[in-house]
Amino acid sequence: MHAFEATGYYFNRAADHLDLSKNIRTLLLTSKREVQVQVAIERDSGEIATYLGYRVQHDNSRGPMKGGLRYHSEVDLDEVRSLAALMTWKTAVVNLPYGGAKGGISLNVKDFSHRELERVTRKFVDEIHDLIGPDTDIPAPDMGTNSEVMAWIMNQYSKYHGFNPACVTGKPVELYGAPGREEATGRGVGILTLKLLGRLGRKPSHTRIALQGFGNVGSHAAKFLHESDCKIVAVSDVSGGYYAAAGLDIPAILHYVTSHGSLSGYQEAKAISNEELLTSDVDVLIPAALGNVLNEENCRDIHAPIIIEAANSPTRPEADAYFDEVGKIVLPDILANAGGVTASYFEWVQNRQHYQWGLNRVRQELDRIMTESFERVWETAQSRNVSLRTAAYILGISRVGRATVLGGSV
Ligand code: NAD
Repeated sequence: MHAFEATGYYFNRAADHLDLSKNIRTLLLTSKREVQVQVAIERDSGEIATYLGYRVQHDNSRGPMKGGLRYHSEVDLDEVRSLAALMTWKTAVVNLPYGGAKGGISLNVKDFSHRELERVTRKFVDEIHDLIGPDTDIPAPDMGTNSEVMAWIMNQYSKYHGFNPACVTGKPVELYGAPGREEATGRGVGILTLKLLGRLGRKPSHTRIALQGFGNVGSHAAKFLHESDCKIVAVSDVSGGYYAAAGLDIPAILHYVTSHGSLSGYQEAKAISNEELLTSDVDVLIPAALGNVLNEENCRDIHAPIIIEAANSPTRPEADAYFDEVGKIVLPDILANAGGVTASYFEWVQNRQHYQWGLNRVRQELDRIMTESFERVWETAQSRNVSLRTAAYILGISRVGRATVLGGSV
């Protein structure tokens, strides 16, 4: 099953619970626009190289489309299409006035110099600037991109359309970014993990957590959960993982990663593989790196009774069905990692008002929206006797479906 088929599978499973006409289903399953461009740049060596760039705009019935920009060697149209649809359901689940989009360039960031990354980003904006903008489609960071890349996008966009910082979010705080945006996805994951533990009657201090991925999302989630008394026993990144039954020293690991660039070579815990991390004996597993890591091959070996999907699409439908069958609780990506787009929304609002909020206000508002959304999804799951994933999709699809009907676009 390809990535987009998997998103469609979750969609259809939830749509069956709703009184959704066949026409609306067809509309909601189809991207509004899909663009593929050649991004040609001169490498530092003088060689001309081209890379495939994508932007998929899935749905705008609830507002301008919103979604990240991913730089990764495995980016392709099917993946971007699937992630764009996920953004539509995600913005609807947390009730932001947005639709969904996603973009990416197929490249390996590690092979690029800083100057080359800037060139490839500006060239990509040259190709798509007419399709994005504060009222149409607003990019943000995702895997392989960061606030600096967003600053280049803002700057390049302004050369065509004039000053408009709301054209992209996740910018540096000194350059129209919002305090708290960078930590927001991981913090949101942490907030919802605590909410879920509370609902399940578990104490944070008695909860052992394994976390895959120690980038933006993983590191901030680890920090928040460590500060909330949870015991993080395993973490990993692309270079491998580390385990300590008594709990890892997260502040020391954060410091190590800041000074060494990755977890590679950390000496204060037992080295494990990423596969061992996923199957370790813990209470909560948080995949916060790539998609499809929980799949048909390894799902029967996953010990954790609770899975928090910090990454996008970490669970294949076959694994999801198995987790449902054996009673594991999965907090789905479209809710679990929605803190990032929520803080992006705050940044966009501030840019449009030319007024900056303080960090406390961002955190308070993030907490409010994540908590309210969690409660709605939890109640839906209870009242309809469905999984949290199906409940989140039911909530998202019903909001988008209603907007589509009310807007009269059919
Ligand atoms: P990032 O690039 O900052 O970090 C990715 C992390 O994953 C790194 O630690 C990297 O070493 C690790 N990784 C890469 N390949 C791996 C592999 N094969 N095995 C184990 N670890 C591997 O990316 P991020 O922004 O933290 O995003 C992580 C996930 O969260 C992605 O699925 C992304 O779509 C999702 N997400 C991110 C945001 C956001 O605001 N950044 C928002 C919503 C969802």
